[in-house]
Amino acid sequence: MRDDDDDGDELACHACGATIEGEPAGRGILVFPRGDDLYVDEPPLCSRCALAVGMTAMARWIEEEEEG
Ligand SMILES: [Zn+2]
Repeated sequence: MRDDDDDGDELACHACGATIEGEPAGRGILVFPRGDDLYVDEPPLCSRCALAVGMTAMARWIEEEEEG
């Protein structure tokens, strides 16, 4: 029996492919348009990539704030 919510298997970082031991350091957010719908995925990320993605998201947020 499979449970999609079970994180027992080892994970690989979605960005760089590094094996993640234990809990992923973070998750990215991918949004794919599918016709009239949106498919949202939250792939696991290793600590390095989670940090990079977090920095990017924060930089984007700051830019948006400045644009007002
Ligand atoms: Zn990575």
